[in-house]
Amino acid sequence: MSPAVLEAELMWTLGGFAPGVQIAIGDDGRIAAAGALGLSPTERLSGVALLPGFVDTHSHAFQRGLRGSGERFPAGAGSFWSWREAMYALVGSLDRESLRRWSVQAFGEMRDAGVTTVGEFHYVHHERDGDFALDEVVLAAAAEVGIRIALLNTFYATGAPGKPLQGAQCRFATPSLDEYWRRMDLLAGMLEPATQSLGAVAHSIRAASPEQIRAVHDEAMRRALPFHMHVEEQEREIEESMAAYGATPMAVILDALDVRDNFTAVHCTHTSDADMARFLAAGGRVCLCPLTEANLGDGIPRLSLPHAARDRLALGTDSNNRLSLLEEMRWLEYGQRLEGEMRGALADEAGNVATTVLAAATTGGARALAVDTGRIAPGAWADLVAIDLTAPALAEVGPERLLEALVFGAGNEVIAGTFVGGRWRATRARA
Ligand SMILES: [Zn+2]
Repeated sequence: MSPAVLEAELMWTLGGFAPGVQIAIGDDGRIAAAGALGLSPTERLSGVALLPGFVDTHSHAFQRGLRGSGERFPAGAGSFWSWREAMYALVGSLDRESLRRWSVQAFGEMRDAGVTTVGEFHYVHHERDGDFALDEVVLAAAAEVGIRIALLNTFYATGAPGKPLQGAQCRFATPSLDEYWRRMDLLAGMLEPATQSLGAVAHSIRAASPEQIRAVHDEAMRRALPFHMHVEEQEREIEESMAAYGATPMAVILDALDVRDNFTAVHCTHTSDADMARFLAAGGRVCLCPLTEANLGDGIPRLSLPHAARDRLALGTDSNNRLSLLEEMRWLEYGQRLEGEMRGALADEAGNVATTVLAAATTGGARALAVDTGRIAPGAWADLVAIDLTAPALAEVGPERLLEALVFGAGNEVIAGTFVGGRWRATRARA
């Protein structure tokens, strides 16, 4: 049963942890009030700090099925492209039941990692030719776990610029723009309104022409939907785009369509400073997936972001090889430290790094998915992560250093559980 008034030892509010606070949760699953409310609590969370639930902005849940594979290299060094062959082999074997199993597993691990909202970038549509049977499996798996989901439903038409889909890629096919939006309408009718929403996606410059990308994006704008796309994860993607269109993928996007703040570019690992400046000036958002980018050997993006653009960052777990938002936050900053041989690379004007990376994992992701979550404030969904202040990793840490200790010194073991829309789920290792 959902508690109506939660009281925790500490709560993240206005950029710091405050003691003795309460959160009142309405029947609709939203926060009705938060602060020193003076109400009698229906549930006391002693030894717990509450943070806004984390937002995993970019996931491919089915790739949980690759966990532990592809990490031996008998033929010599691998690459993103050799990994992709293993991923395509998994796609070839996928059916409704295995997708359900891996999605439930991935979403469950996400909740254990403090994630309350996932942006599921979904492109494996077909169990059999053209049936789109796998779309609803993902929604059902999210409902089973009780995680909030923005189903980022993907348009996918070509295997490379101007090339037809081949082999396992046929499971990704959206035959036409009309068919894509017809599917979006059908999916809209299947959503659980309190926890599920949609976003539009063009998979990448490999999978859609500039005209198709613009068409999907413009209709998404018209429908007030978020729009996501993989952009410049690999140098080869840039080479293929230069050969086909005479411009980088990011330049093709910026020339082809009217980028606004509903556009989230995922990765941007090899995006030039000039293209990035243009994209951010237009209002674009950037989602990084540091653990996956490291695992796949993608490279490290140069985030020479102005302070004002730092709230445009989001974080994703992408291949779900490891599910920890605290680690994604840490490696967002660590990647920049290693790349730039400096500390505090993502510090805000006040010199704080932990708040920047927490914002990427909460408000930045929420805005990228157009979901009112990631903040503890009236009107937002009551999506919260409960931190166990008695965990060994947090011993001897006061409230003033707690966020830094979480980001740089702790992992999933400190997460006691999560609330989604006011509904509690204990971390399974503790249940
Ligand atoms: Zn991805």
